Amino acid sequence: MTVLKPITIVGGGLAGLTVGIGLRQRGIPVTVWEAGRIPRHRVCGEFVSGRGQETLERLGLRDLFVRAGAGQAETAAFYSGRFRGPVRRLPVPALCLTRFKMDAVLARRLVELGGELRENARWREPVFGEGVVRATGRKAQPVEGGVRWCGFKVHARRVTLEADLEMHLGADGYVGLCRLDEDRVNVCGLFRRPVARAEDERVCWQELLQGVEGSPLRARMARAEFDEDSFCAVAGLPLAPQRAQGRPECVLGDALTMIPPITGNGMSMAYEAAEAALEPLAAYSRGAVTWHEAQSRLARQLDQTFATRLAWARALQELAFRPLLREATLPLIFHSGWLWQLVFEKTR
Ligand SMILES: Cc1cc2nc3c(=O)[nH]c(=O)nc-3n(C[C@H](O)[C@H](O)[C@H](O)COP(=O)(O)OP(=O)(O)OC[C@H]3O[C@@H](n4cnc5c(N)ncnc54)[C@H](O)[C@@H]3O)c2cc1C
Repeated sequence: MTVLKPITIVGGGLAGLTVGIGLRQRGIPVTVWEAGRIPRHRVCGEFVSGRGQETLERLGLRDLFVRAGAGQAETAAFYSGRFRGPVRRLPVPALCLTRFKMDAVLARRLVELGGELRENARWREPVFGEGVVRATGRKAQPVEGGVRWCGFKVHARRVTLEADLEMHLGADGYVGLCRLDEDRVNVCGLFRRPVARAEDERVCWQELLQGVEGSPLRARMARAEFDEDSFCAVAGLPLAPQRAQGRPECVLGDALTMIPPITGNGMSMAYEAAEAALEPLAAYSRGAVTWHEAQSRLARQLDQTFATRLAWARALQELAFRPLLREATLPLIFHSGWLWQLVFEKTR
């Protein structure tokens, strides 16, 4: 009998837990190191949109999410200045579940399958060598192109939506609203601050997430009651696309590259990357290929799968932060069925 080599996964987020589950389903010994505790609230719009939903299906995780209360978002609308988008049907519905529940389901499944999960255990080795997968999430980048990105998330009640997903674009950021269940909405915003301003400005998250006077966002949030325990924030997001080939380590999820959150495709990419890693990692574990071969094969596949998507997402993000251009373009996208379909498909 072949003795299977163990795999160590650093990072118990979506990518790390999912690859751990897939490897355990193949009988491979797995240890996941997680610096924090699971579950916890995380900055995220909390809707999975894209091919990662098929990964969840194939790994038997989608049903677990549904049993944990996941719902579907079927419609979306964008708002920017005078543009009040029509409510459009999503070409493929998104899956909505809080990260608190999603992470809890994945962690439980990993342990049920015999994986070892070490919580509050930070990996401190400087290198991620043979048999070690890096799924440590985004690497904070304080400044990118002269600006600092920051994100906030909170759950709120008493928010009435026109569409299941709403994107409200402002001068220096956007706020997404996602219906989570009967009475709870995820309110998640991404903002950019010029470095000079960011340093001497105290940011009030309620103000940013409630939008400016007279905006549709302000109207939605007028009676909102925030669940402050669910509030979380991140800063220093690296949004420039990165390639896997040429990296000295086996890397998955946001640790490899972040897709701009406006696409709602980051979680999907984490799931897809985890699934793509299963075959090369299993081949390494069986001794069929070297670590270097497994890592190179995976890196090639990730670059091929994500390059076009990242380029489109980058363009969409640029558009989102140019008010004049976006107010000229959004009506075209939203009133034309094929353009809406094209942008949707190319960014996931
Ligand atoms: C504002 C915003 C909104 C978003 N909205 C959406 C959305 O609506 N839909 C969507 O699909 N995606 C969204 N995303 C993106 C999505 O949240 C990420 O793409 C996804 O969480 C990536 O998963 P991951 O497993 O790569 O990283 P993470 O979920 O960040 O997990 C990484 C884990 O690694 C752990 N870790 C780090 N270093 C170490 C160490 N040295 N040792 C041990 N553990 C370590 C961390 O504690 C963390 O738990 C959004 C992101 C932002 C910023």
